[in-house]
Amino acid sequence: MYEPEPRLEPPEDVIFAHCDRCGDEIYEGDTYYAIDGENICVDCLRDFASDYFADCVEEARIYAKAY
Ligand SMILES: [Zn+2]
Repeated sequence: MYEPEPRLEPPEDVIFAHCDRCGDEIYEGDTYYAIDGENICVDCLRDFASDYFADCVEEARIYAKAY
């Protein structure tokens, strides 16, 4: 007589949202960043920040200082 083994797998992770940059799932309990209405996962934060602050990029040049 066949009896199915009890399932020992943990309950499925609940998808909370998707990263708006890479599309990966953000699961309940995960850390993510909500920036300007976008959901950004931890892995994408560095890239996102580089783009986000692109207008703030300066080249460090002392001789360019205006006197
Ligand atoms: Zn991402």
